[in-house]
Order: sequence, then structure tokens, then C-alpha cells
Amino acid sequence: MPTRTPINRIRNIGFIAHIDAGKTTVTERVLFVSGRTYKIGDVDAGTAVMDWMPQERERGITITAAATTIPWKDYQVNIIDTPGHVDFTAEVERSLRVLDGGIVVLDSVAGVQPQSETVWRQADRYQVPRICFVNKMDRTGADFERTITSIKHRLKAQAVPVQAPIGQESSFKGVMDLMEGHSYIFGDAGAFQVGPIPEDLKGDFQRYRDAMIERIAETDDALMIKYLEGEDISKAELKAALRQATINRRLFPVLCGSALRTMGVAPLLDAVVDYLPSPSDVPPVEGFNPNNDAKVIRKADDNEPLSALAMKVMTDPFVGRLVYLRIYSGSVKAGAVVYNSTKKRRERLGRVLRMHSNHREEVAEITAGNIAACIGLKETFTGDTICEEANPIVLEPPKFPSPVISVAIEPISQADRDKLIDAIRKLSEEDPTFVVNQNKETGQTIISGMGELHLDVLVDRMKREFSVVANVGKPKVSYRETVTRTTKVQGKFVRQSGGHGQYGDVWIEMEPLERGAGLVFENKIAGGSIPREFIPAVEKGVREAAENGPVAGFHVVDVKVALVDGSYHDVDSSEMAFRAAGGIAFREAIRKGGPILLEPIMEMEVVTPGEYLGSVLGDLNARRGQIKSIEGDDNLQQIRALVPLAESFGYTTALRSMSQGRASQTMEFKYYEPVPQHIAAAIIKGE
Ligand code: GDP
Repeated sequence: MPTRTPINRIRNIGFIAHIDAGKTTVTERVLFVSGRTYKIGDVDAGTAVMDWMPQERERGITITAAATTIPWKDYQVNIIDTPGHVDFTAEVERSLRVLDGGIVVLDSVAGVQPQSETVWRQADRYQVPRICFVNKMDRTGADFERTITSIKHRLKAQAVPVQAPIGQESSFKGVMDLMEGHSYIFGDAGAFQVGPIPEDLKGDFQRYRDAMIERIAETDDALMIKYLEGEDISKAELKAALRQATINRRLFPVLCGSALRTMGVAPLLDAVVDYLPSPSDVPPVEGFNPNNDAKVIRKADDNEPLSALAMKVMTDPFVGRLVYLRIYSGSVKAGAVVYNSTKKRRERLGRVLRMHSNHREEVAEITAGNIAACIGLKETFTGDTICEEANPIVLEPPKFPSPVISVAIEPISQADRDKLIDAIRKLSEEDPTFVVNQNKETGQTIISGMGELHLDVLVDRMKREFSVVANVGKPKVSYRETVTRTTKVQGKFVRQSGGHGQYGDVWIEMEPLERGAGLVFENKIAGGSIPREFIPAVEKGVREAAENGPVAGFHVVDVKVALVDGSYHDVDSSEMAFRAAGGIAFREAIRKGGPILLEPIMEMEVVTPGEYLGSVLGDLNARRGQIKSIEGDDNLQQIRALVPLAESFGYTTALRSMSQGRASQTMEFKYYEPVPQHIAAAIIKGE
């Protein structure tokens, strides 16, 4: 592969799927087919090439978003590994932020599963063009048509088959290419033969092809006229229009195959280069100039000044701290000095690497539109922008939710404490939804994350990769405190002890805000009743108090605090006194404002054979679950429910024993909701 591929021949893609749809297998076969790996790995046997972390191998899930480069024809395809499990929201968000196109892998038996729907919506939010790959066409129960219908209904997406299967289930052996008008008959290990459309399928072919042409023509006025007048539309015209419509997200081309048998993988890669955008086909990246807040736009061009987003920080066992940069404009050069505009710091790049699934390639320069793995950036974290100091830009970082669950971790010796500190530093650099705090009273280390599985994996990594020996407590829910009505209170801090006294006096108004608003502080002092220099101190006092709410010590959120009045003393007033006054007023306002506790609610999706439906529903009820929908038939039922996180602990194990291991579930943090009164009382008492 030439070091520099023209930007229109680059594709940055990611595979998006429900867990078990076959994402790992597809990725792995793509690597095989593109010639980069020499042995077909196998998820079931735990040797897939992309899944290199031991936990992932054991659990069969992909966790880290590594980026892998493969060649395809004269294109360069960068595969950004997206996680299949929604407990790793941060990973999903961060990968969607930096990829230009997605391949949605669907199971042809199950159709569109709940998690695919979640990720589809996230991809909508980041405006990612997609193609769909209907996988597992060889499985009993595979149904291409039904899967297309489920894409249309559940995802409300304009799915356009550009292939149709030849055979299904055990007789699946090839696909018809509706664009080219020929067939692929698949053999072993990725081999295939191109031939004519089989005689007995000509009717099917024509029906599918007509539908495809009609869908494409609808997106392009000139083609529509030709279509209506019965004129021929050339293959080149059709492909160009479909490419445009895919990039604009008006159409979603659908292909099919069986990853396990390496069937349909090469045509899938063809579709990636044919229909998914290059970095120069998507809108130029936007940011702002940190010196004057002006909007800055950078085109995907090597000649523009450098702009890059740190999409992932990893500690690599061989090369140490590795920062993955998505380069939007300009280029990074080994040994160069760059500017971290988020931290306002100069940094020196060491080596620059291109990552392949099984080896690293050291290069002198990586240009716009690419992903670079860099060594030597010490102060750069996920979400930071790297640019030129003379041409600064700050890009919008991906959004990460704050953690909802925590657990205490207690190293058993001083040596383990040191290892733990090291492990925590490295792991939290990699994962912005992994947060660490020290409990001020007990001195315990508390780690927090997005779900039980998320914390399990983190603790597991501390033990394996950093050899930390520690006791791990029971997981605890991160409740929040908030108020239900508006109040106005005074906070006064006065000390008169001999010489110099302390004097701070504030009036604040506190009102409830909508969920997710956080804490908003506003200064409404008019007429100088508090000198301007003390106002930041009041805000500081308020924010400190909010970290430790007066009801049960949880964070206070979704309130607006307006500083409306106060008084000061010429000699005795100080920042310290106003900070204390701010804290006093804040705690008082919460107490008077009808305080309530909020708890994280998880959206849970359970798929179970029909015979266990009754027990599953009964159990969800006992867990304060609110059933949103039940879909399916006696064979397989799909339940969606909202369940408080506090009641979801150990659910995986419970479900397994309830269904003899046949039901599966996923859950994802949805929002915060008030805790019912009787339960709140117990939490406040610390029961
Ligand atoms: P992921 O969770 O989406 O990454 O899915 P995996 O790639 O781990 O696959 C889940 C399971 O489906 C594994 O047991 C695979 O062997 C199996 N699988 C994947 N692709 C196919 C396929 O095309 N046909 C069949 N029959 N099974 C498949």
C-alpha cells in the first residue's frame, strides 16, 4: 500500500450491530479477505484477530475501539472498532464521532434487534451514512425479505437491496448483484465465482432490480424523468445516484451473506468503497478559535492547517501510551511539535504509527482523513484537539454521560495501593466514563462507571493487566438530589473572634430545572450589594456544597441557583467568608425546596423463548420494572422495560437461571427519575 492514498480513496468505517449479530466475525473475515491476516480466527474458539484483549476473548465481546487499516483494491479502508455492548456507551459515541460511514450488521433470523435500534439512533445523531449487511443467511430461519421489512418498520429507514440471496438457510450459496446483473456463487474460505443470473431466479432478479431502480430514481430528478419516460438508465448513473443518496442518508443499501462461511464479504467491501463516503465527501469539520471564540471550518485537505481529535488513549503493552488521532485536516509528522488547544499546551509527537490488526507500521507522516496512532503525547486525553499553535482550533468533543454506578475497591497491601493508583490513572485516561473518587470520610477508593458489566470489566483489567490484588465491594447506585419547588433563602457566615472577623452574607433563589440540566449558577446582583470580586467565591461555595447534598450526601443536580442579594463588611469580608455563605445558603435552599432523591433508570431489553415469558415478566415486576412492550411469537419474545438500576443488580445471573441460559438481555442507562418515597427513606437512612 502506498503511504499516501488520495483522500477520495480513503474510507473510515465502523461495524455497528446488536451483540451476537456477527460483528466480530464480519470484521475478522474482512481482515482475512483483504489479505492482512493469514488465518481465519474464530470468535467461538476465542482467536479472532480484532478481539485481542483477554476479557473480550472470554466474553466474546469487543470492547476497545482500536483502528485497523486494510487495503481494498486501490482504496485504504480504516476500520474503527465499535463496541457491540451498550454498557460501553462512551466507546460507541466516540467511534461514531470519528467514522465517516457505518456497516450495520443484522442477524437474518432475528432481524432488527433492540440494540441495533439504539445504535442506529446514535448514528442518526452523528449523521453517519450506512449500509446494511444481512448476516447469517445460512442459519435456520434466515429470511432476507423479513429482515428488509424490519429495517423499514423498526428503523423507519429507506432500505434498498442491491443484492438478493441465492438460496437461504442451509441452501444459501450466493447472491445476485442487482447493479451488475451477475451472480456470485461462494465457495470455501472466501472463494467465489462470478456468473450469470440463474435461470430459475430471473423473475426474482427483475423484481428486485426494478424496485432498486425506482428507489434510486426517486432521489434524483434527472433520473426520475428518464425512469418515467421509460428510458434506460446506465449502471454508472445508477451507482453515482445511489452513492449520493447513501451519503445524504436518504437510502441505505442492503447486502447479505454469511460471515461465518466467508460468503459475501468481498462484495461487501466493494460496496464500502462504492457507496460510503470518503473524508472529503462529508461536511468539513467545524470548531472554534479558542482565542476569540470565532467559528473555524477546516476542509479535509492536507494543505490546510492541522486539526485532529484524540479519539482514544490506550496503554499498549509494547509501546506505552498510544493516542489515536482522527486527522481532519493537515497532517501529523513524527517528531513534530503540535499544540493541544484543549489543554493549551505544546506537545511533541514521537513516533507515528499506522495500526494493522496484527502489526504496527511506523510512518513519517499521516495526512488528512486518516487515523494515526501517536506515541509521545503526554498530556493529551480523549476528546482533546491537536492543531497548530499558530492556527488554533478546538473541535467539539464527543459527549459522555456521567457514571451511574460505583463500587469501593480496597487494595490489600501498600504495594497494591501503588499498583491500583497506576491502573486507575491509565484506565481512566482511556475511558472518560470511568471516574474515580476518594471517599473523604472513609478514605476508600470509589470507582464509577456506566453499568455492572462496565465495572466488572474494569476491575478485571486492573487484576490482569496491572496485577492489583484488591477487595471489591458491592456495587452502589449513584443517586442524585434535587428540589421540587422554588425557594429564596439567606446564607450568612459571621465570625467575631478577637481582631479580624469573617463576614459573608448572600441571598439566593433556587429553582428546579428539567432532568439533565445539571447545576446552573447565575449572578443577578445589581447595585453592588456584594462586591464583584466575591461572586466567584459564592459560586465556588455553591458548587462544593452540591457535590455532597444535604439529604443523603449525593450530587445535587438540575437546579438553578441565582445570587440575588447580600451584604458585606469593609474589613471582615473575604473570599473564604463568601464561599462559606454560598454553601450555607445552598444547603438551606435544598432543605426548604422539597428535596427528593433521583435514581438512574435503565432501559432493559430481554429476548426469551416464549415458554419463560411469564417468569421473566413476574421477575421484572418484582424489580419495579415498567414493561414498555412485548413483541414476538411463542418461539421468541422480546420485552422492553424500564428498570431502576438499583433493582437490576445480578440480573444476568437471575435471567440465566430462570430460562436455563436461553434468554439474553442488554441494558443501558436512560435517565434519572424520582425514587419512590418509601424507598428513598431507606436510602437516606443508609439501609
Ligand atoms: P458480535 O457479538 O456481533 O461480535 O457477534 P460474533 O461475531 O461474536 O458472532 C456471534 C455468534 O454468531 C458466534 O457464535 C458466531 O460464530 C455466529 N455467527 C456469526 N456470523 C455467522 C453467520 O454468518 N452464520 C452463522 N450461522 N453464525 C454466525
